[in-house]
Amino acid sequence: MQNKITSLKALTRNLWWSWDTEAKQIFEELSPLLWERNNHNPVELLRHISNDELEARCSGEFGDKIERVYARFTAYLNEKNTWAENNAPEIVRNPVAYFSAEFGIHESVRIYSGGLGVLAGDHLKSASDLGINFKGITLFYKEGYFRQHLNQDGWQKEDYPLQLSENLPIEKVTDQEGNDLIISVNIAQSEVFAQAWKLKVGRATLYLLDTNIAANESHYRDICCRVYGGDQNMRINQEILLGIGGVKLLEQLGLKPAVYHMNEGHSAFLTLELLAMELRKGVSDTEAMENVRSRCVFTTHTPVPAGHDRFSSDMMHYTFDKYLSTIGINFDDLMRLGAEDKNNIYGLFTMTVLALNLSRSANGVSKLHGEVSRTMWQHLYPEKPVSEVPIGHITNGVHASSWTCGYTDSFWKQYTDSVDDMSLSHEAAEAVLAKVTDEEIWSLRYNLKRNFIDFMDRYLTNQLFHQHTNSIHSEYDALRSRTNTFSPDVLTIGFARRFATYKRAPLIFRDFERLNKIINSSTRPLQIVFAGKAHPHDDAGKDYIRQIVHHSRRPEFSGKVIFLENYNLGVAKRMVSGVDVWLNTPVRPMEASGTSGEKTVLHGGLNFSVLDGWWPEAYNGENGFSIGNGESFEHHEEQDSFDAEKMYSVLENQIIPAFYERNENNIPLQWIKKIRNAIATIAPEYNTHRMVKEYATSYYLNRK
Ligand SMILES: *Cc1c(COP(=O)(O)O)cnc(C)c1O
Repeated sequence: MQNKITSLKALTRNLWWSWDTEAKQIFEELSPLLWERNNHNPVELLRHISNDELEARCSGEFGDKIERVYARFTAYLNEKNTWAENNAPEIVRNPVAYFSAEFGIHESVRIYSGGLGVLAGDHLKSASDLGINFKGITLFYKEGYFRQHLNQDGWQKEDYPLQLSENLPIEKVTDQEGNDLIISVNIAQSEVFAQAWKLKVGRATLYLLDTNIAANESHYRDICCRVYGGDQNMRINQEILLGIGGVKLLEQLGLKPAVYHMNEGHSAFLTLELLAMELRKGVSDTEAMENVRSRCVFTTHTPVPAGHDRFSSDMMHYTFDKYLSTIGINFDDLMRLGAEDKNNIYGLFTMTVLALNLSRSANGVSKLHGEVSRTMWQHLYPEKPVSEVPIGHITNGVHASSWTCGYTDSFWKQYTDSVDDMSLSHEAAEAVLAKVTDEEIWSLRYNLKRNFIDFMDRYLTNQLFHQHTNSIHSEYDALRSRTNTFSPDVLTIGFARRFATYKRAPLIFRDFERLNKIINSSTRPLQIVFAGKAHPHDDAGKDYIRQIVHHSRRPEFSGKVIFLENYNLGVAKRMVSGVDVWLNTPVRPMEASGTSGEKTVLHGGLNFSVLDGWWPEAYNGENGFSIGNGESFEHHEEQDSFDAEKMYSVLENQIIPAFYERNENNIPLQWIKKIRNAIATIAPEYNTHRMVKEYATSYYLNRK
């Protein structure tokens, strides 16, 4: 018995379980209530269950299941015949060091804000699956990103529950003598210390730097408080810790990365510490730059100039003065590395420019975003035409097994060993689909929608009990009655993402009468679920949330439009599996890639999106729906009217008929044909196994 308990505890210490359906079932089976209440955190779950209980319950079949899963887990860790071993041995011998300000791995580890973090988390998991020696670097944010709740008026409120190290599967990193490993960085005139933690994610390791230690003054402890919290000063401090601190940590661990990957410009200061290491070896400045460049790669994610991190020269001077004197780089040289205009080096210091200057390759995150980035940064390469600006692209994907819910996973396992099989190639996906009947796909859709509606009912009940305990009961009853009228028979649209205004969440409400007619059709109705957080400083985004909440309370939309509070990875997983159609309405070309729509595909969801981000590459006319054809207008109003008109007409003339037209067995043949087409064409391309292989061969190994 003791063995089984030890195995169970070991499973909680590596986030491998987060993409293994059977492992998750074990935790859920221990106590479905505690599992849900503790945000699906097995470390916390086990804290609530006594050893006596575990001993009693680990006998018999449940214990056998633990042993079986544990055996699979250890086999996974010890697997030698991996993709990387066979295709990229250089990055098995030496690690890839991947720096990101956020990682979205699981909802129980709150060190992410949105898409950038989710991408980093999925990258980490695929790197593990493929056998790459992979080390992630980030910060340990004590408060993480905020928890969202809405007040009576639908206005977003943020709270920041503490996340305690003892509730997470993290360990302190220690040195050879077993002492806590501490690194330090210079910020302004101070030396700031950081403790290092590590989190195991399959075969990969994520290191987290933490300034919440007694050695630091309190304002430096706050560097590791919130994801993207605070002002510019906080931001530069976080970025110094991430970039410079991260390199120092790897150095102290004795790791010799084959490549340093900057996921967005936040971590670009890492190049300075690498330069310092080169200069200490006594090489010339030019040689030092070349050596650093030969080991760094950079991924940019931001298609608008204003979105890139920039710091004033005063702030740079104040913050870097002491550091520069210790490494032997002068201030002008530093400013030159980050200057957009070489004739004005005392303007703003741009992190993206630093990253571009000191990496051997750079890329955007979709084909369109690659083009946009080349145009945006062409002025840095005046001698080159736009087409030769050295920024390529690798389109983002999602980690398939993390994003398939338990039901969907079991569904596909009737026909193939793993959902990853369907990610391999078009032919492989077709071969699996050939074994599945239309009736079975339709039954999958119904089951998933029923699960989702049941989830919403519980979720809204909790939401109201926990957050509005002193509010009026009628509000609670009203909300409940709203979910009670959600029906799996009804076409369901989902929209969930960060409420950045360019994503235009309320666009579908632009013509109230027209939407009212669609939603309340007596024969072919529609229901819509929204979720998403606005950045705490983004009042315009918060206003969008409020508008949607107000719409959802109109009598016409009651029970048909719902806003779910506190969007996070857990809610995302529920939504992408439950809805029929995933809506995306960004202002083109502001969505660098987007990934949430890719998560719906294996559940039989269809994308309905502006041709932006990944969608223009994937859309073939038969595997989902497009809003417009990439038309751009100068004025916002004009763009919104045009896109809204297109959206309504596609809904009315394509989506609704395809969903509701049934054959003699009540199956929507056209709809299911589209689902098949989506699975066959999207699943094999838009996954992180394909993406990480591309990074490995074209960027990490430089085998272009
Ligand atoms: C996938 C995901 C995102 C990214 O969504 P986009 O549509 O690509 O913006 C953001 N937040 C969460 C919680 C996600 O799961």
